[in-house]
Amino acid sequence: MGDDKVKKVIWVDTTLRDGEQTAGVVFAREEKLMIARLLDMMGVDQIEAGIPAMGREEEETVRRIAKLGLKSSIMAWNRPVIEDLERSVRCGVDAVAISIAVSDLHIKYKLRSSSEEVIDQMVRAVEFAKKEGMYVSVNGEDASRADFEYLVKFAQAAKEAGADRFRFCDTVGVLDPLTTYDTIKKLQERLSMDIEIHAHNDFGMATANTVAAIMGGATHAGVTVNGLGERAGNAALEEVAMALKHALKMDHGLRQEMFKELSEYVSKASGRFLPSWKPVVGDNIFAHESGIHVDGALKHPETYEVFNPAEVGLERKIFIGKHSGTAALVSVLEKYGIKMEKEEAKDLLDKVRETAVSMKRSLTEKEFLFLYYAWDAKRRKEKKVV
Ligand code: MN
Repeated sequence: MGDDKVKKVIWVDTTLRDGEQTAGVVFAREEKLMIARLLDMMGVDQIEAGIPAMGREEEETVRRIAKLGLKSSIMAWNRPVIEDLERSVRCGVDAVAISIAVSDLHIKYKLRSSSEEVIDQMVRAVEFAKKEGMYVSVNGEDASRADFEYLVKFAQAAKEAGADRFRFCDTVGVLDPLTTYDTIKKLQERLSMDIEIHAHNDFGMATANTVAAIMGGATHAGVTVNGLGERAGNAALEEVAMALKHALKMDHGLRQEMFKELSEYVSKASGRFLPSWKPVVGDNIFAHESGIHVDGALKHPETYEVFNPAEVGLERKIFIGKHSGTAALVSVLEKYGIKMEKEEAKDLLDKVRETAVSMKRSLTEKEFLFLYYAWDAKRRKEKKVV
């Protein structure tokens, strides 16, 4: 893949807008304010705070976020409707997203409009927002299923009307990384303007598609904490950031040590539990059980850890269970000041495996210790060692 040396990505977090659009999720106002503060502290460039057109409650929340005086730009989401934009401007935000569907499917069946009218409506809205001094993102909803030539025409018209960037929305998460790369690259060649990738996770490819879009020339990454968002969610902020850093060797510019804390806060506020196997921030992504892995990780962590757990506020864990080897037993016992030779540990290991299979899970450290004490007492009695 051609010129893949990207220097910087601009972060647009939409946890408070697309994230809250997840069916069944509502943030309290105080939670929205807290999330905005944390995102700002973490170094996110732009926070999409909500949709003022939804009503007074949301309008007030967006106003309060805009008043926090954060370094991040604060964006409000809009339909291409002047009254909506007036409400956003009144909230004191510095940026607006103007969203309209661009695929034939949406234009015909949802908007019941024509492709010409869609462009006209968008242009009128952009011109109004620019007159009000707003930074403007024009969002092409369902862009991934739109006709490519129409998309170029649409985005070109947005640019000429003064739009600052084009948000390419994979609204139903239908893209794959190779198509994303090609499409964004071609689009960037034709438009030469800032492009944001906004990817959904319906086939589990949101992070991959976001990374591919950045490699193809997207300047902005649209993400949410934990990948919270409509249906299967959006691209996860923490995943895209760490993939850029470790797979692409790019500087993501965020305070990554805050990832875990922010993920937990958003998980609680959204009522969506954080799976222990969640990439980058799951509790157990640095837990090792199998003998070969534990041995490797203890000798040299990089053998089985793609990055240092401390980078994101996590810790390495050694699980004692069916797949354990003697190195794990010796290492855990050592933590409690108990010295044991690998040779002696073999017999104890049999007990550990039997117990783990009978319980259908790994042992907690305390369970393992009790097992050890019982085993040790029996051994002493039999051998009459004191
Ligand atoms: Mn979306």
